[in-house]
Amino acid sequence: MPKVITVALGGNAINKPGQKGTAEEQFTNVQNTTRQIAKMIKKGYKVIVTHGNGPQVGTILIQQEAGSKQVPPMTLDICGSQTQGQIGYMIQQSLGNELKSAGIDKTVVSVVTQVVVDKNDEAFKNPRKPVGPFFDEEHAKKMMIEKGESWIEDAGRGWRKVVASPIPKGIVEIEAIKSLVSAGFMVVASGGGGIPVIVNDDCTYSGVEAVIDKDRAGEVLAEEVKADVLMILTDVPYAAINYGTPEQKNVETIKLSEIKKYFDEGHFKAGSMGPKVASAIKFVENGGEKAIITSLENALEGLENGKGTVIISD
Ligand code: ADP
Ligand code: MG
Repeated sequence: MPKVITVALGGNAINKPGQKGTAEEQFTNVQNTTRQIAKMIKKGYKVIVTHGNGPQVGTILIQQEAGSKQVPPMTLDICGSQTQGQIGYMIQQSLGNELKSAGIDKTVVSVVTQVVVDKNDEAFKNPRKPVGPFFDEEHAKKMMIEKGESWIEDAGRGWRKVVASPIPKGIVEIEAIKSLVSAGFMVVASGGGGIPVIVNDDCTYSGVEAVIDKDRAGEVLAEEVKADVLMILTDVPYAAINYGTPEQKNVETIKLSEIKKYFDEGHFKAGSMGPKVASAIKFVENGGEKAIITSLENALEGLENGKGTVIISD
């Protein structure tokens, strides 16, 4: 049986710091990324991909605002679905081409994915995740009063809307994703952490204004497809303890109980490395063989030779 790997791609897989984010730049970045993924597929691994969408959804939100005098702006959940389409497309084409050149006949397919969150999640009481462009105080106050939105003043840079970042509970399209994977398709799913939806009293779904962390959603995806490995690829080769201090030390292969201790001691920053380590812990705790946090360049090395932070059970 080929090993099933769920790969969560970080922001740098699509957008490099300092770039404008043109279509050409993004395509080049995605091509570099899919080259790494293709290496795993060539080795016989079954790969399922998920990805972030921060810069892309930010751009779409600016476009909504700039065009709002001509066409109605779309809501955050719809903007999120747009990013799943645009990033999914780039991965489908780039990875498809890469596999074709290697003589591998595999169709890459993206699934527009809704991820269920609890409407009573504590995060909704205290929205903290900034989204979209900066505005002046007048606009912010207007939105707070008219739409009941939450806005914060960001260190003199202006006002920004903030939304909740609730915990993902499940994936609406999971049975379709599983069928595609077992039929041999290369699936991209749950992009940008998925489109957050709540379950209504009559069991229907509705989109909500929120952002789900892509590493946490990737973990739910990995668990639900019963992946052997959760691999989180980012811009650093290791999670480190005492990060940013002279005592900084890379975490290499580590047992669950040890990394949990480091996590509880607060070594991994909330909003960046924190959710990665938390997701890795949850995956192994719930029966996954191992979770790997490493850089994009080290993907195959991480899988085959344990390069990176590799979390295993006790
Ligand atoms: P991604 O887009 O891949 O999710 P993030 O910026 O969210 O990337 O997370 C990766 C970043 O986490 C690294 O670039 C690093 O600056 C930061 N980081 C915070 N704490 C740690 C830590 N303990 N060890 C390593 N990196 C850390
Ligand atoms: Mg991140």
